[in-house]
Amino acid sequence: MQYPLSPDVKPEFCTSGTFMRLPSVRDDARLAVVGMPYDTAASYRVGARFGPQAIRQASMLLFPYNPVHKVYPFEETRAVDLGDLPIVPHNIQRSYELIEQTVGDLLSQGIVPVGLGGDHSVTLASLRAACKAYGPLALIHFDSHCDVWDTYYGEKYWHGSPFIRANEEKLLEPTKVFQLGIRGTLNDPGDVDEALEMGFQVVTMSDLRRRGMDDVVAQMRETIGDTPCFLTFDIDFVDPAFAPGTGTPEVGGYSSFETLELVRKLTGFNYVGFDLVEVLPTYDQSQITAMLAATLVHEFASHAALGLRRANQK
Ligand code: MN
Ligand code: MN
Repeated sequence: MQYPLSPDVKPEFCTSGTFMRLPSVRDDARLAVVGMPYDTAASYRVGARFGPQAIRQASMLLFPYNPVHKVYPFEETRAVDLGDLPIVPHNIQRSYELIEQTVGDLLSQGIVPVGLGGDHSVTLASLRAACKAYGPLALIHFDSHCDVWDTYYGEKYWHGSPFIRANEEKLLEPTKVFQLGIRGTLNDPGDVDEALEMGFQVVTMSDLRRRGMDDVVAQMRETIGDTPCFLTFDIDFVDPAFAPGTGTPEVGGYSSFETLELVRKLTGFNYVGFDLVEVLPTYDQSQITAMLAATLVHEFASHAALGLRRANQK
């Protein structure tokens, strides 16, 4: 059987519930989509637990070929969709253990994980697993927020703190952390200064507009080089006119086209994993957020496939 299935074999709306109707088991899989529907670490709107389902549903209309990168990403990576992990609502530590264990197992088998959140707290668990496998990581972080707040309601583990925790746990190479798209009102200057003090490269939305994405990407390429790199994408990076279905929207972001253009430029990094978080379907309109998210997953898989090609050429 050829995957993803052709509509000639089975119409797109006849779904098995997986991303692009991928199988859940396959020999020699090198990429796995994994739902991480933990959303009780969100500070404002909840409901991102339904994000993975919405992204999968929106993925049905995607076609297998990526004409920009000239690759069939899901075929080249023999991708699978493992479904949603049975995270434990309200218990972030047990959920972290489960996510870390699963991602660690995948990495040990040479499988690139593509996590679907859930809120942004889940990324910490993936980074723990990836650091265990590869050492301190470079990070490409799309978000309107730096997510380096220390505590909220007195709690250290929530969706606004994954990167201050990751830094404390020495999971990252701080100068190889790029936070892209930062904007919006703050509690105080510390919300961003904290990230700068840790050594992160904070690229605000205004910086992106002023410098242009080519200049930013060139700096990222030079700084990150071949360091094992995790890409985390908070959908609130995108302007809420194009991605309204999210928990803490911030106006003044990139359009969906500009977002895709930037992501497509990020070829050649040594990607060890991806995630896409904070899709909240109850606030989505006409699936526009979920369709963008699904398309971004297609792009991530394309980067993974190109990485496999490079590794095979070596
Ligand atoms: Mn975030
Ligand atoms: Mn955010």
